[in-house]
Amino acid sequence: MLDDILDYVENIRERPVWQPMTPAARSRLQAPLPCNPSELGAIHAEFMRDVLPYASGNVHPGFMGWAQGGGNVAGLLAEMLAAGLNANLGGRDHAPIAVEEQVAGWMRKLFGFPETSAGLFVTGTSMANLMGVLAARTLALGRDVRRSGIAACPQKLTAYASAASHGSVAKAMDMAGIGSDALRLIPTDGHHRISVTALEAAITADRQAGRTPFLLIGNAGTVDIGAIDALDSLARLAGHEGLWFHVDGACGALGILAPDLAPLLAGIQEADSIAFDFHKWGQVPYDAGFFLARDRAQLGATFSSHGSYLRREGRGLAGGAFWPCDFGPDLSRGFRALKTWFTLKAHGSQALGESISHTCRVARHLEARIAETPELELLAPVQLNIVCYRYRATNADELNAELVADLHESGLVAPSVTILDGRVAIRAAILNHRTTFSDADALVEATLAFGEARTNPLAA
Ligand SMILES: *Cc1c(COP(=O)(O)O)cnc(C)c1O
Repeated sequence: MLDDILDYVENIRERPVWQPMTPAARSRLQAPLPCNPSELGAIHAEFMRDVLPYASGNVHPGFMGWAQGGGNVAGLLAEMLAAGLNANLGGRDHAPIAVEEQVAGWMRKLFGFPETSAGLFVTGTSMANLMGVLAARTLALGRDVRRSGIAACPQKLTAYASAASHGSVAKAMDMAGIGSDALRLIPTDGHHRISVTALEAAITADRQAGRTPFLLIGNAGTVDIGAIDALDSLARLAGHEGLWFHVDGACGALGILAPDLAPLLAGIQEADSIAFDFHKWGQVPYDAGFFLARDRAQLGATFSSHGSYLRREGRGLAGGAFWPCDFGPDLSRGFRALKTWFTLKAHGSQALGESISHTCRVARHLEARIAETPELELLAPVQLNIVCYRYRATNADELNAELVADLHESGLVAPSVTILDGRVAIRAAILNHRTTFSDADALVEATLAFGEARTNPLAA
C-alpha cells in the first residue's frame, strides 16, 4: 500500500489531472454493507481500481481549481503514524497534545501573538471562522449568552466584511444564530480590497439605528482573486470602534512565511483571531485548519464546559494543562498536528515560504502569457497566486463555462469557474508546490485550443 501510494505521488504527472468515474466503478461503490470479512489485499486492489484513479486530482501539478493544496509525502507518512497511535486530542496529559502545543507556539511567534494566545487545529477555515464569530459574540454579549441564547439579548449584533469574503463567513453568522443578514458586505475597491470609507459609514449607520457592531472580518487572500485587505487600517478601526478583529487568512495568512509577501500582511499581528489552513498553501494533507486567538481566556469563556466525566486531575493521564476541548467545539479530535509538525520539520519554514513565493511567480507568468495572447482577456489584477481570465467571444459567459469543463475532461489541467463583476471567469489558483511555469503554459495552450474548437469548429 505504501509503495502504491508513493508511486502515485511520484508519478502523478503520468496521470490525467481528473477523469470521471466509470459507471462500473461508481456502481461497485454503491454495494451494500459487507457482512463477511475480505482480505486486506483484495480491498487494496479495489481501492487501486475504483478509488485512486478517480480522485479529484489536487496532488497533480495541473490542478488549479478552487483553493486546494497539493499535500506532501512527509505529511502522508505522518498520517499513517497518527492513525496507528489513534490519539484523541480532546485533552489529557500525553505527547500528542504537546506536539499540537508546539505547533501552536510556532504559529504564535510567526504571527506575533502574545504568550496569552491560544491556537488549535480544526477541520478548516470554515470552522475557524465560526469560532471567530462565536468568540466575538461571547465577548460582546457576555458569557451568559451561552445559556440564554442570542434571542434573549436586546442587542442587535452586526458584523462587517468585504463583499469579496468567502461564503463561510455568512454561514458562520447563520450557524451562530445571529443570521447572515447581520453581516454587512462592504463594497471593495478595484483590487477587491474592502473600502475603509464605506466600512466606517456602515458602522456609523448601524450605531445610529441602535444596532451593536461587534465584529470586523478582514481578508488575507480573497477566494476569487487573492486580495489582501489593508489589515493595519482594519486593526486600527476595530480597536477604535471596539470590534473583535478576525482575519480570514484561509489561503493567504501563511504568506507570512514568504519574505516577499509578509509585508502585505502587515496588521495581521493585531488581530483578535486568525483563521487559516495548513492544507492550502501549507501543503499539509487534508484536513488541517487552524484557529489562533489572541486571548486564551476569551476563547475558554466561549467554549469550555465541564462534564463530570471530563474531570481534570492534578496528576496521571487526566492531568495536563491544555485541554483543546475547552477552546473549541470538538471533544474528540484527531492528531492533525502530527502531519503539520512533520511537514514543518521536513521542509522547514524557509522552503515552505519559498514554495509559496514560487506559486505567485507561476501566477505572474500565467498573467504575462494571457496579457500577450490576444484571444484571452485578464479579468482581475493578479495580486497573489490567483489568475482570472477568459477566452474572448460574443457568448463569452456560456463559452468559458464550457471551456472549463472541456479542460477538466481533457485531463490536462483543472482550473475552476468564478463570476467577477457578473462575468464568467476561468480561475486558476496556483497552490500546488509541484506546479511549474510549463503547467501554466499548458493551461494557456489548452484554453486556446478548446476556445478555437468551440468558436471556429471548421478550423478544429
Ligand atoms: C478555502 C477558504 C475558506 C474555507 O476554508 P475550508 O478549509 O475549506 O473550510 C474560507 N475562506 C477563504 C478565503 C478560503 O479560501
